[in-house]
Amino acid sequence: MDPEEFRRAGYAVVDWIADYWTTLGQRPVTSQDPPGTVAAALSAGPTAHGEPIEAVLADLDRVVTPGLTHWQHPGFFGYFPANTSGPSVLGDLVSAGLGVQGMLWATGPACTELETVMLDWLAELLDLPQRFRSTGRGGGVIQDSASSATLVALLVALHRASGGRWRETGVDRRYRAYTSTQGHSSIEKAARIAGLGSDGVRPVEVDPRTQAMRPEELRAAIEADRAAGVVPAIVVATVGTTSTTAIDPLPEIGAICAEYGIWLHVDAAYAGAAAVCPELRWTHDGLEHADSYCFDPHKWLLTGFDCDAFWVADAGELIEALTVLPEYLRNAASESGAVIDYRDWQVPLGRRFRALKLWFVLRWYGVEGLRAHIRSGVALADRFAERIEADDRFELTAAHPFSLVCFRLRAADEVSAELLRRVNATGRVHLTHTRVDGRYSLRLAVGSPLTTEKHVDEAWDLLAATATDVLTG
Ligand code: PLP
Repeated sequence: MDPEEFRRAGYAVVDWIADYWTTLGQRPVTSQDPPGTVAAALSAGPTAHGEPIEAVLADLDRVVTPGLTHWQHPGFFGYFPANTSGPSVLGDLVSAGLGVQGMLWATGPACTELETVMLDWLAELLDLPQRFRSTGRGGGVIQDSASSATLVALLVALHRASGGRWRETGVDRRYRAYTSTQGHSSIEKAARIAGLGSDGVRPVEVDPRTQAMRPEELRAAIEADRAAGVVPAIVVATVGTTSTTAIDPLPEIGAICAEYGIWLHVDAAYAGAAAVCPELRWTHDGLEHADSYCFDPHKWLLTGFDCDAFWVADAGELIEALTVLPEYLRNAASESGAVIDYRDWQVPLGRRFRALKLWFVLRWYGVEGLRAHIRSGVALADRFAERIEADDRFELTAAHPFSLVCFRLRAADEVSAELLRRVNATGRVHLTHTRVDGRYSLRLAVGSPLTTEKHVDEAWDLLAATATDVLTG
């Protein structure tokens, strides 16, 4: 494909994406086809000779899009949102076109420097503590996901807890990670990858009313471990848990971590984006105690997957834990000590130019545009929660400080499960579920930039009418 062919095909692809977004609301949110449908519709192998882009686009329409869950659909209320946006797609397109590898400063100086500045911009935007800014000992980096951020935080925490021996000796004794019973599954996975064993994570009980970690339970767990010769390495606190968006009490947890010298990582994968709004920054109270923090612009900040923003208060510790310098990567800039080599801040060596999409998004929307997006999600969730509260057949099962509402029918769990099954089967909406304090609960997470009051009201009408059917028959 020469540049002129690319130009023509590229316009056709951009048109295709614009048409997809324009017609998205008319499609079923989820695929209506049984497993294997997409695979069966694909040709048995590649064609001997190349095909025009139009043939590929036709198959996108015929085979691929009917087999998708449409995450950008205005009726998509599942999991947490995974927003994308025009500027994000275009930034990613430029990144793909440049094809730069940003593993070292020397392999793409602008790739590194734009990322450093974007992470400082984001820190400013969220009003994060000064200790995370690159102007001091801290700094930020883009990881592919919050799961990777947790893994990296755990590895540095092990390095610290071992007195700096971990990079030579590995896991030389029993170490423990702590998170609440509501902490994300990526914490357990990180502990397994790091070699902490099946009991590497100790789940700490939550307050059943708030679903937030109970600090006194954390202290008791740490004390018990220390008495048994287990070394506490890291506490992962959550701002906005996956099930219900509960907020762990960072001031109390931070004080305990400081007392015992334990690394505190704060996982705000979904809810961190809320801090762009001053009125929601209370959700980050106590963050100044954290050694590391992350949130996913790829969830609720209009930036397409993958983009996790991860900060550490002391970049030196991180680099010491992870750096490996083979001869073939040596270069004068790295040796000068004047540059950042992001390969030392993550698990892989290679890295894409992901800062571009952030730059495009931040410049296109501006601070006020991003605040408007978050405020719209929160207002729509409040609107939906009001409907739930006004109908005696339903009840809320958790607080809703962000854009997620958890609720159920005042009936047996199976009845709520049947309600979810039936509304999702219509293809008009997609909701997911969880358990809150052992009880089945539906989750409605607002997040698509296409979702408006009309879509939330339609979702409510559908739920209310289906509830009548489910409860009466
Ligand atoms: N942490 C929390 C609190 C989450 O809710 C999620 C995903 O929803 C994750 C971590 C994992 O995010 P990622 O897909 O970026 O690894």
